[in-house]
Amino acid sequence: MFNAKAYSAASATSLLAHTPIKRRDPTPHDVQIEILFCGICHSDLHAVRNEWSSVMPTVYPIVPGHEIVGRVAKVGSAVTKFKAGDLVGVGCLVDSDRTCPNCQKGLENFCPHMTLTFNSPDKHGTAPVTYGGYSDSIVVDERFVLRIPSNLKLPGAAPLLCAGITTYSPLHRAGVTEGKKVGIVGLGGLGHMGVKLARAFGAHVVVFTTSPGKKEDAIRLGANEVVVSRNADEMKKHAFSFDFILDTVSAQHDIDQYIQLLGLGGNLTLVGGVTKPQSLSSFGLIFGNRSVSGSNIGGLAETQEMLDFCGKHNITADVEVIPIQKVNEAYERMLKSDVKYRFSIDMASLKSE
Ligand SMILES: [Zn+2]
Ligand SMILES: [Zn+2]
Repeated sequence: MFNAKAYSAASATSLLAHTPIKRRDPTPHDVQIEILFCGICHSDLHAVRNEWSSVMPTVYPIVPGHEIVGRVAKVGSAVTKFKAGDLVGVGCLVDSDRTCPNCQKGLENFCPHMTLTFNSPDKHGTAPVTYGGYSDSIVVDERFVLRIPSNLKLPGAAPLLCAGITTYSPLHRAGVTEGKKVGIVGLGGLGHMGVKLARAFGAHVVVFTTSPGKKEDAIRLGANEVVVSRNADEMKKHAFSFDFILDTVSAQHDIDQYIQLLGLGGNLTLVGGVTKPQSLSSFGLIFGNRSVSGSNIGGLAETQEMLDFCGKHNITADVEVIPIQKVNEAYERMLKSDVKYRFSIDMASLKSE
């Protein structure tokens, strides 16, 4: 084992602070990564504050972070995919059983025995649970390490590992391509990635927002049109016209008004986790053979496909780079949606701790 620097929280009410942690020495199939940037995902905050205790109770101390990019420092003797110096990424998963039907289909993200990047039991016994990317290093099996295209700027590439795949997977599965009309509901960390990706797939992209002030920025990000969802007349103009709508809003909202905008056989996919049940009218679905679905990140192969797609189209997240010492402040700002559109932690700032 070796010592690593990290930021962790000691309890649901503690601030994140510098803590030394242990990492395992690379086993034959492991890659040791020097972390350069880690994005801040809203689920980091939920986990730190134990807000999802009913489904995933947090074990303390917690080191969050699952939008990791870095450089390979060292590889185990049997590693074939990577060598020291390669630019790599790690997303929400660091292991799975590799044998269940979902793993065999490349859907490790639905493996019943998957190991999440943080707060999952640590199979290697280095610590009670896995520690994530708010750290200067991480050791991960090569199967769960992804290649980052060399043309992508690293601070903005980090959020692709969660926000990128969360939006890419449903757009891709829906067959979004040139000539399709696609709606993106909400323009935050997920929504702004949805806009960039849908546009790169060639779709006509319409952004729905509650804030008229976001219009200009939505267009800059690639939207063809922007609709203020509180304006019923503007909404009506788009009735029965969408092939696909990606709903990224994680607060309670009216889903029915978007279902009304789907065309025949259209689908609305939810990716924002709303904790309370939401109502929807069955008639909205019946009249039009419409459907509502959910989507949860993506498997390893699809995540690599997304990264390669982003490399080809030069897509990264819009980020505000912060030193790790500002992470607690960043959490408070994220709660107020005061960030365009994702925070990315510069891990060089850990060196001074
Ligand atoms: Zn995430
Ligand atoms: Zn499995």
